[in-house]
Amino acid sequence: MSFEKLGLRAELLKALAQKGYARPTPIQAQAIPAILGGKDVLGGAQTGTGKTAAFALPILQQFSEMRAQGKGPRALVLAPTRELAAQVCDSFQTYGKRLNLRSHVVFGGVGINPQIKTLSQGIDVLIATPGRLLDLSGRRAVDFRNLECLVLDEADRMLDMGFIHDIRKILKLIPAKRQNLLFSATYSPDIKRLSEDILKRPEMIEVARRNTAAETVAQSAYQVQKNQKRILLSQLAQDGNWEQALVFTRTKHGANRLATQLASDGIDSAAIHGNKSQAARERALSAFKNRSVRVLVATDIAARGLDIQDLPFVINYELPNVPEDYVHRIGRTGRAGKDGQAISLVSQEENKLLWRIEKLLGRKIDFVGDEKSFKANAKHQSKTSRSGSKPKNRSTSKGSQSRQSGNRNGSEGGEERNAKPRKWNRGESNRQPGSRHRKRRPALSKNGGSEGGPKPPNRFRKFLSKRAQASAR
Ligand code: AMP
Repeated sequence: MSFEKLGLRAELLKALAQKGYARPTPIQAQAIPAILGGKDVLGGAQTGTGKTAAFALPILQQFSEMRAQGKGPRALVLAPTRELAAQVCDSFQTYGKRLNLRSHVVFGGVGINPQIKTLSQGIDVLIATPGRLLDLSGRRAVDFRNLECLVLDEADRMLDMGFIHDIRKILKLIPAKRQNLLFSATYSPDIKRLSEDILKRPEMIEVARRNTAAETVAQSAYQVQKNQKRILLSQLAQDGNWEQALVFTRTKHGANRLATQLASDGIDSAAIHGNKSQAARERALSAFKNRSVRVLVATDIAARGLDIQDLPFVINYELPNVPEDYVHRIGRTGRAGKDGQAISLVSQEENKLLWRIEKLLGRKIDFVGDEKSFKANAKHQSKTSRSGSKPKNRSTSKGSQSRQSGNRNGSEGGEERNAKPRKWNRGESNRQPGSRHRKRRPALSKNGGSEGGPKPPNRFRKFLSKRAQASAR
């Protein structure tokens, strides 16, 4: 299959050649003919499949063949975040640069007046976040009378973010007769309901199994104490010489803190989240894209829609509460057939979340770890058990080992998931059988070991002592 065979006009083919696209991706091969044929489309496409071009190309082609009737937008693309909206607009402008069509993006967090002015000058494709679009509509800045096509991009995320009411308001403002395209990475009952309300006899196009993550993404996990995550992350980044890693935290505050801590470990990092101004978000993103920072720490919402070419690593520093977010997160890597790695740092408290993610994916995510670290810890545990103290959860350690060694024959998440994994080192719980309170954890010595406590595994020790040296300097 080639783009020529899809019947795209020469101006678009030139733009695609310039972008280096050799052939259509599966979603493009299926959606472009359906959209050109005037059909409504329900696209079940995960991020990174090339879905933006799948709707942008046929829209541009159709509009280039028919003259506009008025000033208003002929296509409206709704996107959940500013970043995604900006990227979609970028794609329309890039693909359509040889056509006499105007694409423009509007979103909140920036001045509304320049947007009003641009809209008044006439526009073909309007890409918008729902809130700002309603503000503009309230000021009578958008004329929807000539709207021919509505696109809901990343519809699942729009619903997750609570945009359903805004979407319903927008639906009342636009002409009933129009083409509708709905794209969603996941297919929840809410999406099903929305698509039934909006789409008319849609062509269902699904390029990957529902709720699965890109097959080109290698997924693994580390079982690690919450308070050791940052150390492990720094160690992995430094040992692996990571050049670009997108790291997800659950909170904005956590993202800021982690970026600062990583920077103090000598890893250039920036944070991107909703509390940052649009300018600061753009600065962080472009520093990451041009590789002047190696790690971008992001919250789910801010990272939604980020398209970073050839991103090699996505790290789940904390697992998301909503399993679908895991799919969105790791979809930032392994895009357009490229390889990528998704690594999750999973604390014991998060095992349940991991289980839910595995259930959604229909597959296990293997724990990987440093053999030595586990051996060192095992030695310590056998010592403590010989010296009279009760070994902790003997049976559960086995559960963890079976995961570790790849023996996945245990029951689906049940026993195995409830099993207490073997702990690595100083973060070891000091809770005594029968005691309701944790004992105070022993203080860390300079070389990172806890005085009188178990020694950290070799790799940790090396890293911690390096840090101690650095801070002494
Ligand atoms: P999307 O799923 O639309 O966010 O696209 C993911 C990435 O794939 C973007 O970086 C696109 O530039 C790229 N892409 C889209 N279509 C193609 C194609 N046919 N060949 C190669 N890369 C593509």
